[in-house]
Amino acid sequence: MLDMTPANSVERTALKINPAKTCQPVGAMYAALGVHGCLPHSHGSQGCCAYHRSHLTRHFKEPIMASTSSFTEGSSVFGGMANLQQAISTIFEMYDPEIIAVHTTCLSETIGDDIPTIIGKCQNEGKIPEGKVIVHANTPSYVGFHVTGYSNMVKGFVKYLAASTGRRSDAINLIPGWVEPSDMAELKRYIAAFNLPAIMLPDTSSVLDAPATGEHSFYPKGGTTVAQIRAMGDARHTLALGAWASEEAAIQLTKQCEVPHEVLDLPIGLAATDRFISAIAKLTGTAVPQLLEDERGRLVDVISDMHQYLGGKKVAIWGDPDQVIALTEFCRDMDMKPVHVMTGGNGQAFEERIKAILADSVPTANIKQQGDLFQMHQWIKQEKVDLMIGTTYGKFISRAEDIPLVRFGWPILDRVGHSYFPSVGYTGGLRLATQIISAIQERQDRDAPDHAFELVM
Ligand code: SF4
Repeated sequence: MLDMTPANSVERTALKINPAKTCQPVGAMYAALGVHGCLPHSHGSQGCCAYHRSHLTRHFKEPIMASTSSFTEGSSVFGGMANLQQAISTIFEMYDPEIIAVHTTCLSETIGDDIPTIIGKCQNEGKIPEGKVIVHANTPSYVGFHVTGYSNMVKGFVKYLAASTGRRSDAINLIPGWVEPSDMAELKRYIAAFNLPAIMLPDTSSVLDAPATGEHSFYPKGGTTVAQIRAMGDARHTLALGAWASEEAAIQLTKQCEVPHEVLDLPIGLAATDRFISAIAKLTGTAVPQLLEDERGRLVDVISDMHQYLGGKKVAIWGDPDQVIALTEFCRDMDMKPVHVMTGGNGQAFEERIKAILADSVPTANIKQQGDLFQMHQWIKQEKVDLMIGTTYGKFISRAEDIPLVRFGWPILDRVGHSYFPSVGYTGGLRLATQIISAIQERQDRDAPDHAFELVM
């Protein structure tokens, strides 16, 4: 399908071909689903909402509940205030959520709808039932990308709800970044191993990986509760994982409630997990539990046992900046060579971070923020790699160039497992490492002549 992609790159400024990102409201919707009893509401046309829901459904293989202001031609010209007011009344009457999380779209942002004013009007007119809440985030898609939308929505929850009572609790806040439900469960397991009380926002575990019970539940049992978000203002510390997804909400907590914060990389791979575990150990003043030491030891064991398959292997990596930064470091630590590294998201800091990670091992690596998969394909044509690691969209390049692809990141539309097995932490690192090693071994087996086709590898 992509056989005609030319190898020679031409500098493009105004055109993206197969961008490695999607639009802000998708992230806002994902973050809102991690709050218990929350109905995400898309203030725009039905088409946007349908696209965002279906994209999330395809990745998580779960039905995604969200409502829309359902703009008509009239609201596109005169504004969507009446639509949102009607929607709020209908949602509380029909679907009875604890909280509605409104996010905007390109259209409502271009019109300039003032969401806080509309919410205030609904409050004054008694359209918001006692004890129920509405929050909002501005998520125009002509700036930023899906992780920006996630970050804006998490910040929105903090802004509307977190409050300081003046009494500090023993708990910490954990803002987990854009990771899978399985990763959120794993992060909670780590925190629990230290007996550290924590509030995690958002928390999509037991929401987007909920078991089949034979009964449909509009609001699954998981998710951060409104009461927990309010209590975040009294926490003694915030750990924010992933600068792109989590830093803004952590800064907001510091400004609003004087909760000190610390931004760490997503704990993907050995070194980033070590830093996460050290941060928790420092906060608790206790030693790392033996259970986690053992898990770390297993990861180190597999990486060193399998070094002959990993050492020197060239790899192309793309995806969301927080994830790509951690993954690139992990690949470097396994002695692989990340020669092409890209994110569709924006931020010069991405290129600087990757450059620093690869300074000694791959100083000539191609590194790009706001990149697209057309460019990635051209890089691969110019310098072939042994392995590609990234989203499902890379499968076309994988087929055209006959290079194995390990699916990682968001979205994965054509496989299952990512929302059930973690990638974070030592166990997640073990899973990732085995996926990478297996892909390399599969290729070695496939290409081996009969005399070198071994039973034992
Ligand atoms: S880019 Fe804008 S118009 Fe398109 S789906 Fe996203 S929010 Fe809607």
